[in-house]
Amino acid sequence: MPLLLQRYGARLMVWLGLSAIGCVLLARLELAQLRDAFETDARISHRLLSQRAVQHDAVLATLALLQPNSPSGSADSAEQRLSSVYPQILGVQRRDPGGAWVGTGLEAAEQASRQNREAVLANLDLSAERARYQLVLAGQPASFALLIDMHASVPWSDWSMPVQTSPVRVTLEHAGQTFVVQPGRMDEAGWRFTFHKHLASASQPFDVVAIRQVLWVELPWALMALWVAGVAGGVAAWSAWQSQRSARRRAEELLRVGQVARLNTLGELAAGMAHELNQPLTAILANTQAAKRLLQDESPELPTALKAMDQAVAQARRAAEVLARLRRSVEQPGTSQPGESVDLERVVRNALHLLEPECRRRTVSATVRVEQGATVLAERVALEQIVHNLLTNALQALDAVPEGERQLTMGISVEQGTGVLRVADSGPGIAADVLPRVFEPFFTTREGGLGLGLSLCETLATGMGGQLRAQANTPRGALFTLVLPLADSMAPAP
Ligand code: ADP
Repeated sequence: MPLLLQRYGARLMVWLGLSAIGCVLLARLELAQLRDAFETDARISHRLLSQRAVQHDAVLATLALLQPNSPSGSADSAEQRLSSVYPQILGVQRRDPGGAWVGTGLEAAEQASRQNREAVLANLDLSAERARYQLVLAGQPASFALLIDMHASVPWSDWSMPVQTSPVRVTLEHAGQTFVVQPGRMDEAGWRFTFHKHLASASQPFDVVAIRQVLWVELPWALMALWVAGVAGGVAAWSAWQSQRSARRRAEELLRVGQVARLNTLGELAAGMAHELNQPLTAILANTQAAKRLLQDESPELPTALKAMDQAVAQARRAAEVLARLRRSVEQPGTSQPGESVDLERVVRNALHLLEPECRRRTVSATVRVEQGATVLAERVALEQIVHNLLTNALQALDAVPEGERQLTMGISVEQGTGVLRVADSGPGIAADVLPRVFEPFFTTREGGLGLGLSLCETLATGMGGQLRAQANTPRGALFTLVLPLADSMAPAP
């Protein structure tokens, strides 16, 4: 699990981050839309209820102004017919001078109305069963009172919401009493939008209160899931592209660091050998053939034949010298570059990065321990090649032990004024009789091995003023130690 996290951690974080940001934005967008819709509905409700209240004021004002002349209380009086036009007006009372109101509270309301010169509320009962109030307007000579049914005063035909199913709760509130216009849905969880405004009528000072509770389930989950899946697809495609690109780069680097150099060396070696050996071999052939002919004569010319054989021996010696020279030139290539300051850890990490797919394929766990960072004076390409060869050898050796026991450890330190790199593996190690020979050119125990890697590494290390040693690792495996001069130690003394 930690390995998975390490490998996919960054991608996971990107995915989680983008998913979270997208989901929050989508949720906010949805909430903003719901809020807009809620506020529109609440404003419409407020306007419709206000219109009704204003209508009541207008009816009362008309009655007080026109003072219809029919006898009060008679069934067909003008004011009693109002109910057929305005169903919310349950009844109209008229108090002529000298008369009395039927019911309590109306007289006080009339007095208040006379003082304020506007209609006044009386006998307010907002309970669900009754839900009614009276509106009194003092007039001259007669005063009037309307009995208003609140249920019927809601203009349902123009109402913008489905009353029974809408999640919006709408109430009319006054003096601690509440009339529920629309029940809506109330819940504790989620988000709450509220709307609070006085009715646009001074005589009926109700508050229109609208509440919309948005539940978690109302968030756009499908869209959010789609977004999360989309981001996952995007991140996967991006990381596939990235790993493809890095695999390509890695392959190019591998070619540069490893095979090309090795093949070039081999190619040069072969071409040089062919060129240099061709001439002495031809001379040996010619001389030995001449000597054979001379010896086959009836009277063999021994001195001349001897001379030809001497020539052949000399040419054979030359051929041997050519080989020795070629070997020397391979072992100490004259192409070495001047040294530069190179960070040992960086080279190790680069090489490890290049070989990471190999490590993964072989389930090798690789560790770099930096006791003390070392900047060495080295030829970068040569150093890269040494490290690469040592790591490749270690990986090949680790094939021989079971998975789970394959450990590759690199240690970097500064010891006695030199930069030291140790490459240790938990492989089968190097047999005692093999150990002294591992740096010999063309010595190999591997099937298909060339036996040039370590010899080349040693040559390169020596060429840079350093050393390469091999020994047994404890408790098991092989340990290669590369020692190189530190870059600072080459600085001129003040
Ligand atoms: P090659 O890898 O082609 O055999 P090298 O010069 O790289 O040539 O290695 C020479 C020999 O050294 C190998 O054949 C192997 O026997 C031995 N050797 C090198 N590295 C290791 C190692 N890490 N563990 C065990 N043996 C090793």
